[in-house]
Amino acid sequence: MTDRKAELAENLARVEERIASACAAAGREREEVTLIVVTKTYPASDVRLLADLGVRHVAENRDQDAAPKAAACSDLPLSWHFVGQLQTNKVRSVAGYAQVVQSVDRPKLVTALSAAAEAQGRELGCLVQIALDAESGERGARGGAAPDLMAELADLVAAAPGLRIDGLMTVAPLAGPYAGREQAAFERMMELSSSLREAHPAATMVSAGMSADLEQAVLAGATHVRVGTAVLGARPRLG
Ligand SMILES: *Cc1c(COP(=O)(O)O)cnc(C)c1O
Repeated sequence: MTDRKAELAENLARVEERIASACAAAGREREEVTLIVVTKTYPASDVRLLADLGVRHVAENRDQDAAPKAAACSDLPLSWHFVGQLQTNKVRSVAGYAQVVQSVDRPKLVTALSAAAEAQGRELGCLVQIALDAESGERGARGGAAPDLMAELADLVAAAPGLRIDGLMTVAPLAGPYAGREQAAFERMMELSSSLREAHPAATMVSAGMSADLEQAVLAGATHVRVGTAVLGARPRLG
């Protein structure tokens, strides 16, 4: 094993142990939580090592970096998740490699994703990104729609050709009433998820929790955690 592969294996084992412990503490089966490794800023060679080590879900937040990486790794059995703020002019590219777009936060993006998915004959899974610190009817500074926009966006996705509504995504807010209260934030997400599932029973994904707060997300009921630094190491400032 190369040094890098051994390092990634060790980090993955540690993250796996954290997820397993949190599942045990929550009385949940380990299989209820899927690990998505956020590979942003790291090279395709790392993605390849991760796939070798059994990782099946990776996430990226910038199309400029993700598109060539996904192309270089197209032989690997990976699902690609897009988790960054998405401009409509990047949608066609993202629809070419992503299985799931986790950052759907405005009607215009739904229209663009639908057109791109249709044109490429693909079905794209979509998560509505929720900004728990956004004002009513607005979007958050780091993307995401205010909770009161969730139902409308989910209905739009569900009605859009080429798109599938899979659930919700959030990043624990740094500001507002949930700042520093990750578990409460994720519990609020689970309430929103229940309400979403009344209209869209198959939209069961709740993507929440990162390196610093994955335990709180698993305890609250998240189905997917997105872990970057705890697996790959600290990133250079950008990203
Ligand atoms: C970078 C990123 C992550 C991973 O964050 P870490 O703290 O490195 O685990 C998760 N979700 C999103 C949306 C990200 O941009």
